[in-house]
Amino acid sequence: MEQKLKKYASLLIKVGLNVQKGQPVVISSPVDCADFARICAEEAYNAGCREVYMNWTDDQIARMKYLKGADEIFDTVPQWRADFFNSVSAEGAAWLSIYSEDPEAMNGVDPDRIRRSSIASGKAIKPYRDRQMLNFFPWCIASVPTAAWAKTVFPDVSEDEAMEMLWDAILDASRVFDNSDPVREWEVHCSNLSERVRILNEYNFDCLEYKNSLGTDLTIKLPEDHLWMGGSEETQDGRTFCANIPTEEVFCAPVKTGVDGIVYASKPLVINGNIVDNFSFKLEKGKIVDVQAETGLEFLKSAIAVDEGASYLGEVALVPYHSPISQSGLLFYNTLFDENASCHLAFGEGYPCLKDGAGLSREELSKRGINDSIMHEDFMIGTPDLSIIGVTKDGQRIPVFTDGDFAF
Ligand code: ZN
Ligand code: ZN
Repeated sequence: MEQKLKKYASLLIKVGLNVQKGQPVVISSPVDCADFARICAEEAYNAGCREVYMNWTDDQIARMKYLKGADEIFDTVPQWRADFFNSVSAEGAAWLSIYSEDPEAMNGVDPDRIRRSSIASGKAIKPYRDRQMLNFFPWCIASVPTAAWAKTVFPDVSEDEAMEMLWDAILDASRVFDNSDPVREWEVHCSNLSERVRILNEYNFDCLEYKNSLGTDLTIKLPEDHLWMGGSEETQDGRTFCANIPTEEVFCAPVKTGVDGIVYASKPLVINGNIVDNFSFKLEKGKIVDVQAETGLEFLKSAIAVDEGASYLGEVALVPYHSPISQSGLLFYNTLFDENASCHLAFGEGYPCLKDGAGLSREELSKRGINDSIMHEDFMIGTPDLSIIGVTKDGQRIPVFTDGDFAF
């Protein structure tokens, strides 16, 4: 196991971040994952990084703050805290986020406090967020089990067993196996994703039409000069990195005002430590005009009300229903994994998925139809019977997805 963890950490540092000699590295990690964070720090120093800055987090302390903190703190972010994100990102530090949220950490917390807090932090660290979205620095999100999360995924076994099972699931999904070199596995995987990207970009679809038996019936217009992406990405100075490990998706951004119809979620979503389930959005000219949910409706409503752009879509992503993560049959209650098991959309901020997108400012991207928001939340819509038709500029109708999987 020790060997496997070292391989995993080295994958995150070498492929996820592609750390360069002399580059600072930030590791954001829950205190519960400190052992693994240390292995990552060691790998970062081995790769020649200048210094590792730690950003420790803790779900339980965060929960206490929401329950017991003074009310006014939810509308502000201390200057020193904002300075950390804004100044370190300006240095071009490589940013590793270990994302291992307890899906139920915020049960019973006032959703309005969460909403106000996301608005305040969205504004305070906007320079950092913009640099991240524009790939000014390399960044990678990966996960490590925590006891609370493992028990949510495997409620029927002991905590130790649950931890072990979640580790296995994470390492399998990340292609870290006993007798193989994960760095090599990732090169092959990323080149497969690049081939899909190439085909989609060649079709240069005007729009995509989604239909399935849940009731989804949605048309999504793609921007002029849009660009599908997937697998590895490039920083503005041309270094490859992999923003999510694992990743199975190819993705693009819709035209902000070009989405119409109704879409049903196919998996639950965890928003800020609260579960939302069996929900649907009705959209008109891109705007979410109606929301339904059997569980967690108030959390979903708060999330799309954070700012103007939060009620528009920012991402359209294609993932085969038979992806390895989907095959595991597990519901991870963690977007990093669940999004890679299913076609998904996101409400909120769009990535600069345009041919010349990397050099454009947020204002220029908005003019070209890409949504802006402090929110970016993926939700899953893939089903085994999902059909997606791509309509070309000259009106040809090309099957993109048939029965939940790529048609080409
Ligand atoms: Zn995605
Ligand atoms: Zn996303």
